[in-house]
Formats: sequence, C-alpha cells, structure tokens
Amino acid sequence: MTLGGTGWGAGVAPPHSVPGQPVMGSAHFAGPQEYVFPVQDTVRPGESGQGYALRLSAENHLNGLPQLKIWLGKSRFATLDAVDSPLLHRWFGADQSSLDHALGWIHTGRNSEGYVYAGHSLGRSYFLNRSYPRVCIRCLQTEAHCKAAWDLSLAVVCSEHREVLTDLCLHCNRPISWHRPTPSTCSCHRDLSLSEGTAASPLELQFSAWMNHQIERITLVHGGIEWMAPETNEAPREVTPLMRLVWPLSLNGGLCVTYALATAAGYDDTSNADEPRARTSLKKAQKILRIADHFAHKIQRQHEMHLRVRRPSVVVQLLADCMTSRAPTADRNLAQSLLRNILQIKSKARWSGANPQLSQMPLF
Ligand SMILES: [Zn+2]
Ligand SMILES: [Zn+2]
Repeated sequence: MTLGGTGWGAGVAPPHSVPGQPVMGSAHFAGPQEYVFPVQDTVRPGESGQGYALRLSAENHLNGLPQLKIWLGKSRFATLDAVDSPLLHRWFGADQSSLDHALGWIHTGRNSEGYVYAGHSLGRSYFLNRSYPRVCIRCLQTEAHCKAAWDLSLAVVCSEHREVLTDLCLHCNRPISWHRPTPSTCSCHRDLSLSEGTAASPLELQFSAWMNHQIERITLVHGGIEWMAPETNEAPREVTPLMRLVWPLSLNGGLCVTYALATAAGYDDTSNADEPRARTSLKKAQKILRIADHFAHKIQRQHEMHLRVRRPSVVVQLLADCMTSRAPTADRNLAQSLLRNILQIKSKARWSGANPQLSQMPLF
C-alpha cells in the first residue's frame, strides 16, 4: 500500500484494532473514510486545530499534515479547516463541534460573515496566520500542543513566558513548518530548541494578553454551546496608547483598528527609510504593533492636528467593518471616533458608496 507520504520516511504504522470500531486493514481497505487510528484524543482547551491534527498524526506514527492532506483531498499548500472536521473526528476521535471551533471556517464562500476562528468572526483572512507557524518552545516542552492564539497574525509573544515566539529552527535555520513530524520537532528531525529568548516589549505583552483573553473568553461546553466567560479582563495600569484603544473591543474590532492605524501610518510603505521592510511574518507583526502604537500615541496627544494618513480607502474600509449592525457597541463607537478624528472626512459621498454602513452613522 502506497500512501504517498513525502515527509520523514517513518512510514505509516497500520492502525491497531479499536474495540467496536471498523479499522483500516488490507482485508477491508476502503479508503480514508474508513480509517480509525488507535490513539484518540479530544481537542485540548485553547489548542489550534491544525496543531491537534499534527499532534494526533505524530502520536499515531503517521506522516504528519502532508499525509492527512492527501487523505483529505487537499493540496500540500492548503490549510485544514472545519470542512475537514468529519474525517478528523473519525480518525482521531475529537467531537466535531470542538474540531469546528479549533479549525475555523477560513475559506471564502463557506461563511457569508467572512472567517471564523476559535469562535470569533474575523473580517479579513490576513488576521490569521495559518501557513507560517510560530511557537513558544517553553509551552511546547510543558504542554506539547500548539495553541490557537499563536495562529493569529499579530501573535508575537507568549504572555505566560514573556518571550517572543519562535518561527525559526536553531539547527537548520529554516522557518518552522506545519509539515514537521511532531509539534516540537522541526522538519530537520531535531527538537525545536530554545535560543536565548528575546524579551518582549510591554506593548507586545499587553497585546498578547488581550488576544489570549479573547480566545479564552469563548469556549465550548458539551453539546457545542458557546459560553461566554464573565468579563474579568482588567487593563494593566501602565497601558500603551494602542492598548488603551483596543482593550474594550472584540477580537475582530481590535485587529481592524490595529491594522487601520498601522496602515494609516504607512507600515507597508517601502519608501519609509526609518522602518526597514520586515523579512518574516513575525517581524512584520512586531512592526505593525509598533507603528500602530506610535500612531495611536499621536492621536492621543492631539498635537498634530493634521495627521498624514496613508491609503485612506483601506483605513476607512477596516474601520467601517467595525461599524456594521452586528458589531459590538464599543467597536462601533471607537471606529466612528477614529474616522472622525484621523480622517477628518469632508465628503460623506466619497466613502459611503463603498461602505453603506457609514451612511447610517451620525458621522459627518
Ligand atoms: Zn510559552
Ligand atoms: Zn530544523
């Protein structure tokens, strides 16, 4: 039987018998829909969906996500999402609602609201980073699973260990890949090991604590019912200018505002000599946070009456996404005040055509 594994050559161990379950075997080989693997587990609280698939694949001696993608009929470059929950449920035993929650709906067209990840609606696909994994090696050493919070594009630090996340293997100096043998092993077969750990800035720590809180706020109970934990998230005393804006917002609202501020400040402007172009998605995320914070500081000082705003149409669209009728009040209020203050829009007609929700607001 050739299963097309292209990874590390360990091969596929035939599944052992699971009492009461049909098993894959040469006698009744019927394709991936029939497989049931011996090591079964639930999705752990806060675990990333792709991380779950990688962990269970490793525990069952399969060839990682490349193998699973072949069985799921996906290309090597695709990411797993909730479309894959039924088969992952069958193979590894986690219930489908927790798989849906951990994998998210990330493909356009599937969900009219956009993207959903860990129970949060997200307005933009680039709010998620599902292709260039980052990890906290200390967390992997103690908990041995990948966290959903690390899959957010602006996740740059582990707030528990207060260090910047790792996206490179120290041994082979290559980016860590989802196509690695186990959560804590690089594709070069060596254990991901600790470098000297870069200390995180207060802004990075606060942003990460806020995102973690958002992820933990929505959990699943049996039966797939979402449950909102009580609001216990207190802003730290010495809060940075960006966090002062973002703290009360929803996950989507906070991400929209952060990207809007960084865009307004020209984070992706290659001609900006003060800020060299970021080489990796981790460095880019750090730069976005830094620049958004700097811009938030300018707004709050209000010394500069006429802030220069780059790419205003992108900024308006990001903020307008926080102003739909479904958005929480805090998101709507902040987006509205930012639009009024930083854009100083003179012409309502110019923006409200493409963003009809703006015409509903007493903005102009
Ligand atoms: Zn950690
Ligand atoms: Zn390596």
